Amino acid sequence: MKAIINANIFDYENYIENQYILFENQIIEVGAMENYPGALYEINAKNSIVMPGFVVGHTHIYSTFARGINLSFSPKNFKDILEQLWWKIDAKLGKDEIFYSALVAGIEFLKSGVTTVFDHHASGALIRNSLNTLKEALIDNIGLRGIFCFETSDRFPVRKCIDENLEFLQNNSQMYAGIFGLHASLSLSDKTLKTIAEEYNGPIHIHVAESIDDVDYSVSNYGLTVVERLNKFGLLRKNSILAHCVHVSEKELGLISKNNCYVALNVSSNMNNAVGLPNYKKMKTFNVKTIVGNDGLGFNFARELLALLFSMKLNGHSPLAFNLNDLKNVITNTYEIAQYYLNVKLGRILPGYAADFVIVPYTPPTPIDKTNAFSHFVYGILDNFKPSHGIVNGKILMENHKINLQVNEIYSIARKIAQRLWESLI
Ligand SMILES: [Zn+2]
Repeated sequence: MKAIINANIFDYENYIENQYILFENQIIEVGAMENYPGALYEINAKNSIVMPGFVVGHTHIYSTFARGINLSFSPKNFKDILEQLWWKIDAKLGKDEIFYSALVAGIEFLKSGVTTVFDHHASGALIRNSLNTLKEALIDNIGLRGIFCFETSDRFPVRKCIDENLEFLQNNSQMYAGIFGLHASLSLSDKTLKTIAEEYNGPIHIHVAESIDDVDYSVSNYGLTVVERLNKFGLLRKNSILAHCVHVSEKELGLISKNNCYVALNVSSNMNNAVGLPNYKKMKTFNVKTIVGNDGLGFNFARELLALLFSMKLNGHSPLAFNLNDLKNVITNTYEIAQYYLNVKLGRILPGYAADFVIVPYTPPTPIDKTNAFSHFVYGILDNFKPSHGIVNGKILMENHKINLQVNEIYSIARKIAQRLWESLI
């Protein structure tokens, strides 16, 4: 049995000071320090906040080796960004690139307080067995939890994409699971959508109306908007993840809500690609469940949460357009969907929940209690989010900012693999 002692616990609902947490792979007991029974291994969390590790609702580990790449790049629209950058890179990714990008991503996520990710993967040089390669790196080597899928699209041999998703879906545990992946409407033919709908009846993970290009392509080629088109094939399945939904109509929001799909908001990426921003207010009106992802844009999830708050206020033209309760709901929904896929309780610090914690040094300069802890979280803790400890499934993966892996060696090999990848693109 392990223990975190002198803990100031914050789990979005509660803030309680001076507690102990006894845990194995789950939380066994939480109580006041005066009743602490002792444990074989102790972590002292004095002057820190202990909170659940973050879940990232939509990311792309394959983007890791894009950092610093020098390709001729003058995009006029989103399709150009795909063609001039992402589709060039992902076409060349093979086993080494997948494995090392996942090791680096795992280390960076851990340092950023992320303990679970929904990854949306593509790799043209290795389709079959790519998801297992990701799982070996991120789950077996680093120790995070992950939900993986391959971006099926007509850019790749479709049969291989479908088989890779279906095969990975056969196995799962409380550490990892699969979901069926599709790239986006603009890269999927009717034939492919029909095949997927016939061969698989579970939820999907897909980009939806990220840019207006996706909508225009769908309307001009198929006479339907993106969500209508997915609905036509019966693919709006319960617990699906529709990433972005920047350009969706009220009719589409109604369909998303009716079919109990989740929308993953990725506002930093939307701003970086200049594709527009999602209309949170309308999504809320239609009772659409929203979660938060980062679309593979870096690893700093605290920054993403702040960007979501600020951008949704700006986009709603009111400081009240997205309040702290909205942010809390989006975070809570992200735990909820991860909990569904992994069949493990996430997001609270209570007995029976997974022992997935981060410890963040924080000395409040103003009074803090249960009533204002979320405000401290947003304007203080997220503003300087540097966890000292990361614990997943009861395993201490980072202690006093140190990760128990050959980090320098991994980065050194990663740089060589990235160099080789970049040279293959020239
Ligand atoms: Zn994405």
